[in-house]
Amino acid sequence: MSKKYLIVGGVAGGASTAARLRRLGEEDQIIMFERDPHVSFSNCCLPYHLSGTVEKAESLVLMHPDKFLAQYNIDARVHNEVIAIDRAKKEVTVKNTLTGEEYTESYDKLILSPGANAIVPPIKGIEDVKVFTVRNVVDIDKLNKSVKAMGISNISVIGGGFIGVEVAENLREAGHNVTLIEALPHIMKPFDYDMAQILHKEMHDKGVNLIVGDKVSAFEKDIVVLESGKKIEAGAVVMAIGVTPETSLAAKAGLELGETGAIKVDQNYITSDKDIYAVGDAIEVYHALTGKITRLPLAGPAQKQARQVADHIHGRIIRNTGFIGSSVVKCFDYNAASVGLNEEMIESLKLDINYEVAKVIPGDKVGLMPGCEPLHFKLIFEVTTGKVLGAQAIGRGSVDKRVDIIATAIKFGATVDDLRDLELCYAPPFGTAKDVVNFAGYVATNLLHGEFKQVREKDIRGLVEKGACIIDVREKDEYELSHIIGAKNIPLSEIRQRINEIPKDEPVYLHCRSAQRSYNALMALKHLGYENVYNVSGGFMGISFYEYFNDETKGREKIVTDYNFL
Ligand SMILES: Cc1cc2nc3c(=O)[nH]c(=O)nc-3n(C[C@H](O)[C@H](O)[C@H](O)COP(=O)(O)OP(=O)(O)OC[C@H]3O[C@@H](n4cnc5c(N)ncnc54)[C@H](O)[C@@H]3O)c2cc1C
Repeated sequence: MSKKYLIVGGVAGGASTAARLRRLGEEDQIIMFERDPHVSFSNCCLPYHLSGTVEKAESLVLMHPDKFLAQYNIDARVHNEVIAIDRAKKEVTVKNTLTGEEYTESYDKLILSPGANAIVPPIKGIEDVKVFTVRNVVDIDKLNKSVKAMGISNISVIGGGFIGVEVAENLREAGHNVTLIEALPHIMKPFDYDMAQILHKEMHDKGVNLIVGDKVSAFEKDIVVLESGKKIEAGAVVMAIGVTPETSLAAKAGLELGETGAIKVDQNYITSDKDIYAVGDAIEVYHALTGKITRLPLAGPAQKQARQVADHIHGRIIRNTGFIGSSVVKCFDYNAASVGLNEEMIESLKLDINYEVAKVIPGDKVGLMPGCEPLHFKLIFEVTTGKVLGAQAIGRGSVDKRVDIIATAIKFGATVDDLRDLELCYAPPFGTAKDVVNFAGYVATNLLHGEFKQVREKDIRGLVEKGACIIDVREKDEYELSHIIGAKNIPLSEIRQRINEIPKDEPVYLHCRSAQRSYNALMALKHLGYENVYNVSGGFMGISFYEYFNDETKGREKIVTDYNFL
């Protein structure tokens, strides 16, 4: 017997559910309601309209209702908002947002994918600035037309998450004077402070006025006022401080909300009503690594949940293994990907996990190949078991490939030994015979098995200030170009001959460009009886990136004679 399925929301989760439901049942009636003018648009491409990368706003719409009907026999109704659910009668009330007309539709199963809303807090004076948010095609078209009409203008983007960073980048590419304001000490929460410094540098170098660790306290006429007292001129303000799940319809219908405020669902995405499912930004999900319930407003999870809902409705057994937060973002010339746990998550969630960090910065392809670039890769793993917990990768090359490997590794419960031994594709234009992921596996297994000790970039300023013994094992010409103030140069090639210059009665900190040669030096010293030797994780390149943005923007004294980012 044919069934009637109603879907609320016609974009990522909604449209995917509809399409899968159709594939699984030809006779069923499928109606998809969307309150806005468009279904099936690319939310993720919205910011790229601001730079002209996506030239026309219409191109952002991937499929129109007539095509949904013709190709899939799905009745996609735009300008139709579902305003109430009568669970007892199993029907919804729908309002045509153009005509105001209201009508009802009954259902066998109802699927909610209403997404999320951009947060716009009631900050004092907000009526004195032109505020924009970015959720859909109408929003981005409005923002684009307004800033174009203003000519080259001062625009403040508030919030340094994915959307804020992408909007800031694309507005800057369009030639505007962009200020990006982030209340936390760094942008992009999926990354730790040390990794985020690479993105800070890129933003700064590309002319974005990046302000971190400062909060908007008020607005005045076309001005953003920060808690520090700074005032920033802003012809337009883009609010990108996060989203709240769209739960109004669900809450009004008495569906249970969870601990995060999003719609509560079970392992099959069924709400507290057995005939109503929910997916996407509006729900909360199980985080497979923290063991906690969380919100994860990303397109990939929304679409996977959608498929599983359609499968479950059709009696298929689904496996909900939770989510690990794989994500990637472009920031001008850099790409940044992450997955799983980072150090700040472990600390802020007070997870009882003993972890260690392996950081490597190898080339992303063979050095002789054009376009070989350093790839900053940070791996987090559990101590004693070596279980892979998370990774962050930032570079100009293919960071997503490396982080996708880690995402797969995490899904299958891999350890750092597995990463070391992974047999990955290789030819010079694509990578190195020992890939970045293998390198991280080597360093991690060495750390795990106690072969060497390390200090991190964040420790170096303190060591310089207290006059610690820092030995730079790069070649003389590299040292002369730039070095840590106070560091002694003993190149790896001379270390055995100059062993008498290295003290045995105090800690010795060894570094090179990226921590590889210094690891070799450390091992040589270890074999020669040195016990108190440490490798500087990330090497001189890591330190340069770590120190640069704060030195530049805070007028802080440098701990290096100059930086070297290559
Ligand atoms: C600018 C931007 C960039 C992004 N970039 C990425 C990215 O690069 N990678 C990534 O993974 N994710 C990205 N995302 C997030 C991703 O788009 C969302 O996670 C995903 O779209 C969520 O799907 P959803 O179906 O839950 O909600 P949506 O896709 O937002 O769809 C919900 C729809 O429901 C409609 N609706 C709500 N209530 C009702 C109602 N009562 N009646 C009828 N219709 C209703 C809304 O109008 C909306 O169109 C981005 C999001 C934005 C805004």
